[in-house]
Amino acid sequence: MENKEGAGGVKGDSMDLITSIALKRGFFWPSAEIYGGKAGLFSYGHLGKTLKNNFDSLWRKFFIEDNKNCYEIEYSSILPEQVFIASGHLENFNDPLIECKKCHFRFRADQFIEDNLKINAGEKSIEEMNNLIVKNKLKCPNCKANDFDSAKWFNMMFPVQIGATGKDMAYLAPETAQGAFLAFKREFEATRKKLPLGIGILGKAFRNEISPRQMFFRLREFSQAELQMFFDPDEVNNLDEKTWKEILKEDLQVFPQDQKDSKKKFITIKIDELNKKYKIPKFYLLQMSKMQKFYLEILKFPKDKFRFRELNEKERAFYNKIHWDIEVYFDFFDEFKELGGIHYRADHDLSGHQKISKENLEVFYNEKKFIPHVIELSLGIDRNILAFLDLFFKEEKQNDRTIFSFPDTLAPILISVFPLVNKEGMPEKAEEIYNMLKEKTTVFYDDSASIGKRYRRADEIGVKYCITIDGDTIKDKTVTIRDRDSMKQRRVKISDLRKELGI
Ligand code: ATP
Repeated sequence: MENKEGAGGVKGDSMDLITSIALKRGFFWPSAEIYGGKAGLFSYGHLGKTLKNNFDSLWRKFFIEDNKNCYEIEYSSILPEQVFIASGHLENFNDPLIECKKCHFRFRADQFIEDNLKINAGEKSIEEMNNLIVKNKLKCPNCKANDFDSAKWFNMMFPVQIGATGKDMAYLAPETAQGAFLAFKREFEATRKKLPLGIGILGKAFRNEISPRQMFFRLREFSQAELQMFFDPDEVNNLDEKTWKEILKEDLQVFPQDQKDSKKKFITIKIDELNKKYKIPKFYLLQMSKMQKFYLEILKFPKDKFRFRELNEKERAFYNKIHWDIEVYFDFFDEFKELGGIHYRADHDLSGHQKISKENLEVFYNEKKFIPHVIELSLGIDRNILAFLDLFFKEEKQNDRTIFSFPDTLAPILISVFPLVNKEGMPEKAEEIYNMLKEKTTVFYDDSASIGKRYRRADEIGVKYCITIDGDTIKDKTVTIRDRDSMKQRRVKISDLRKELGI
């Protein structure tokens, strides 16, 4: 499904199987598929979009609604050039590009090295990358020649022109974050001038990636869920006693730089130790603790597949003081991969915008004037969707079925309703039950093919409960509920159905 631009990086048969289910059942497909598609552009079908909506709702509830002084806003995706001069993206948002002299295939030099030499190339300079490519006689993934132009930096911003004059330059936002920085002053004033203040955005980001690949792990248009926490820098290590006491009880699953060469996937460390030994400030630890809860308790990721990885100075984005990535172990790729990051951006963005716009972005708070600092909780939504498809997928050969064991809150469809046959009053009763349940949750009505086939189809898209209406239903007002994971069936009264399903 990937074209020439998107070569490589994916392992395993499960990816092929999941892709074929996704295409057939309506999770996702390449955009403009009938024109051959374009690497890095994907569309969601009805199931994928519902899965994404469910992720958005869980994120909104957990990070915005249940969090004090946190608000969601919406911002433009097209922003004038000055914004990205101020943020530093025009100067620094670059990836290393290399071109084969023979076939002119262009791709990312760091990924090329990582795929071939199995080392982390994210921290290498352009010169080091060029030397590694020459020294190891790496071959072009397209034509196998080993003659390349020197790698050079490539800016990933998508330029757009505003209006008809051709002079008004703008760019598609490469992250939702800038919207929150631009909105900060207004939101601070509209929400009674208190810190910490959280501004969240669920929105689109655009990056002209050199080598989009690995299904939709690396896209050119993608969605982000980002929360910027603005706070007084003097309070970064100063949580209120109750909150600190609460999180002190917790352990975090981390992979710090001092474990870089160990074989462990992660180590489990008490929050207090991370504060004292690793010098991570308390306000940052609070965000890590929230994030771990979101993944383990809300999204129900398997514990052994989640970790925070510390990035070193060379790997960190240009604006970050402290940076731990949120990583999950993908069976697809047979390694931990980044789903998001917690970035201590300090005053980089607000100071940059103040300098270029000449607007005063200082606040008066705690009896002093200052530019707030920011810790960003940044997640890529599409990568999370890919992780759900990987983590919750099972192939049960003995039962001749594939399943997505999504948690109930994520499942695109929670319940399917089946009339056993299309006669003897069963469709009418099934329709009645379907309408009753549909008021409360997502329900699919399926009356085609044998019951066995309908169960398999429901398992394949992650439906948790199948309800069958048969001859006995008409007589004794009971139905069968079949559970996706255990395949066990039980008979319940229609009047108890909602209670039994917990809806
Ligand atoms: P990477 O190192 O993989 O290029 P990044 O560190 O540049 O990602 P951030 O700028 O921190 O990414 O963006 C936050 C999140 O947005 C990432 O963790 C990821 O989940 C998502 N993201 C970034 N780039 C892409 C992309 N090209 N396609 C899909 N998701 C992306």
